[in-house]
Amino acid sequence: MGKLQGKIAVVTGGSSGIGLATAKLFAAEGAKVVITGRRKPELEAAVAEIGSNAFGVQGDVAKLDDLDRLYAEVKARHGRIDILFANAGLARLAPLEAVDEAHFDLLFGVNVKGLLFTVQKALPLFSAGGAIVLNSSVANTKGMPAFGVYSATKAAVRSFVRSWTSELKDRGIRVNAISPGPIETPIFDTLGLPAEQVAEFGANISQSVPLGRFGRPEEIAAAVLFLASDAASYVAGVDLYADGGMVAV
Ligand code: NAP
Repeated sequence: MGKLQGKIAVVTGGSSGIGLATAKLFAAEGAKVVITGRRKPELEAAVAEIGSNAFGVQGDVAKLDDLDRLYAEVKARHGRIDILFANAGLARLAPLEAVDEAHFDLLFGVNVKGLLFTVQKALPLFSAGGAIVLNSSVANTKGMPAFGVYSATKAAVRSFVRSWTSELKDRGIRVNAISPGPIETPIFDTLGLPAEQVAEFGANISQSVPLGRFGRPEEIAAAVLFLASDAASYVAGVDLYADGGMVAV
């Protein structure tokens, strides 16, 4: 029997990268998975790739009406949620002098506001014994040039885990964070840097990972599966670094 047999899971940003790998693994472990994303073609392709246990709802986590529509759809189809992977997020880099209001609002709007309301609006559907996993980042604890605003959003996510663990314990809902190190996903094409700079950044960052390489989305999915499953029944409030040793060593 699969580790998530009969569970209902929602994965925001499930159409690419870490979210897609996690949604695939959840479905392979017996869950019914609802994935989200803003781009419809990518979302439809992901649903087809995951298979008959997946359903897609197009939407932007930073738009509260879209979240209401998402959960109305989940309620109509499945009636409840057992697992939420609040994964949708953006990365843009800018040194302090170059940060403008649009950069700040974009990153905090999706990574912090979007994530908070993703969780808040899921609560009426959440079952006792459920699990919430928030996607943070090693950036929540590192001081890297041009990462200031992105890192601050991920530190906020880490902080939410502590508050919400305390707030949701009486409902039997566990909350944890996953903090990936550098993972090979399309996010690196969206940083706002020229391709050569992305390549140079990638080479430099690999050297700061004790395992000496980028991770694969499937390696993060395996860690998220652990946090989401009953195997982690006494794990709450943690920030699990799946980062090739980047933070610990
Ligand atoms: P990715 O491949 O670019 O995937 C991002 C996913 O989120 C896509 O499905 C995207 O679909 C969706 N998304 C983005 N903004 C959204 C919004 N406003 N509303 C709904 N969906 C949205 O990137 P990834 O690397 O897998 O990143 C996933 C998460 O991991 C992010 O929170 C990121 O910060 C975190 N993370 C990544 C790394 C890494 O090295 N890759 C490291 C640490 C943490 P649409 O664009 O179609 O909306």
